[in-house]
Amino acid sequence: MAPSILWFRRDLRLSDHPALHEAVRLGGADGVVPLFVLDETFLAPAGPTRASFLRSSLEALEASMGSPLCLLAGDPVTAVTELAEGLGVAHVVVSGDFGPSGSARDDAVAEALGHHGIALHRVSSPYCVDPGTVRGASGGPVKVFTAFRRRWEVIGPHVVLPVPDVSWVNVPSLAALDEIPKRAGTRRPALFADLPDAPPIVLPPAGESEAMSLLERFCEGPIDRYDHDRNVFATPGTSHLSPHLRFGSLHPRTALAAAAGADQGATTFRSEIAWREFYADVLHHHPDSVSEPLQPKMARLRVDAGPAAEERFRRWARGETGIPLVDASMRQLLAEGWMHNRGRMLTASFLVKHLHLDWRWGARWFMWRLIDGDLASNTHGWQWTAGTGTDASPFYRIFSPLAQAERFDPDAQFVHAQIPELSEIPAPRVLQPGGGVDLLSSADYPAAMIDLGAERIEALRRLDETKAE
Ligand SMILES: Cc1cc2nc3c(=O)[nH]c(=O)nc-3n(C[C@H](O)[C@H](O)[C@H](O)COP(=O)(O)OP(=O)(O)OC[C@H]3O[C@@H](n4cnc5c(N)ncnc54)[C@H](O)[C@@H]3O)c2cc1C
Repeated sequence: MAPSILWFRRDLRLSDHPALHEAVRLGGADGVVPLFVLDETFLAPAGPTRASFLRSSLEALEASMGSPLCLLAGDPVTAVTELAEGLGVAHVVVSGDFGPSGSARDDAVAEALGHHGIALHRVSSPYCVDPGTVRGASGGPVKVFTAFRRRWEVIGPHVVLPVPDVSWVNVPSLAALDEIPKRAGTRRPALFADLPDAPPIVLPPAGESEAMSLLERFCEGPIDRYDHDRNVFATPGTSHLSPHLRFGSLHPRTALAAAAGADQGATTFRSEIAWREFYADVLHHHPDSVSEPLQPKMARLRVDAGPAAEERFRRWARGETGIPLVDASMRQLLAEGWMHNRGRMLTASFLVKHLHLDWRWGARWFMWRLIDGDLASNTHGWQWTAGTGTDASPFYRIFSPLAQAERFDPDAQFVHAQIPELSEIPAPRVLQPGGGVDLLSSADYPAAMIDLGAERIEALRRLDETKAE
């Protein structure tokens, strides 16, 4: 006999972990080698913020195992195969990856291992229902969220597994956690020139026990008001679980089991988890949608390019557009590595429909800054907002920054917190373009960079052009 290898990726926890149970079974008395590979394919597009959270998540995982991870670096095809062959193991176990690069990598690793008679077992996934499982009446993918959710709810297995007894095998590492900051973020786009890079000073605590406490606190109170509070910018009304779901320090099954109530808050929360699963399913069926519009006709939409457009993009990214709620949201992303969902919809809509820029520029910036940056949710959150994706009434939905501010930040609590230079200007005046700054005020805040009404008309004109062609 020989130990099995559990290769951790987006499953940095010990509870509710089907792949860990399988690794324990296959390793038997010889135990389990816990492995993590510093893989540049995934580290390169992550900015310093997500890289820092990854590092903390791995430290927390090691602490909870009471045994070190075996850390390797480089191409997993070589790294995993050499380790498995060197240890004489017969089984490598992973939680399945359904993303475009992740599933291709796993196919290549499985093939390389196969040459040595070693099996790669793909067990479960970071989702309640593996992408590709939910099917429509005709057997094809389900294109609309509500239909997806109805079918997904019926399939979803919500049995939460306990932490098994594991005998961890300590295999010396050939890499170190200290290398993460150097290996991450190596593919920084030139478009981001001069944009701030430093991670937020305070990152949320990482690791499984933090995720469980967060979930518990959320389910003890805020979930009852979630249906309403999740829209209010200044209220901590959402769960903030997204970084943990991203790195798997929490599985969505555990979250669903904790939020099993029948009231409206719990129902809406489960529906948001279903959006995450829907977008993973859409990406699985349309891997090209990372860079191509899901609706091919929208590829004809005219977007601006060139130095002036790039400068407009950078003002947006720095939170200097002169539209207070847009800037407050973009500054939240810089300050916290997280942004309120309504802020994400508003700022994405603003980039595409008021600044007439390519949604992929914005999606890349989000992926760079977000701790929870997730290819499926981010790509399709952007495509939905840009009107190129799964939204049923797509391009006409143009978020009005003023209406959003009046409804969801009427007292300007959020705007004041994120833009200190506007803190002396009272609501509702401060919510106006330019923050209501006049000649008598000393506030150092930019005037609005665009006329919202004129650019809204321009967006609709460009939409009409796509139909005329
Ligand atoms: C343009 C855009 C980009 C986005 N990029 C990402 C991303 O990179 N990573 C990411 O996890 N989410 C992304 N989202 C979805 C959503 O904004 C975040 O999941 C949410 O704000 C995270 O905060 P929370 O954990 O407090 O959410 P809660 O409101 O507490 O929701 C619970 C969980 O449900 C899931 N969820 C909620 N809303 C959505 C949604 N609209 N789409 C998919 N899943 C959802 C998340 O996993 C979230 O943690 C994006 C949305 C938009 C509009």
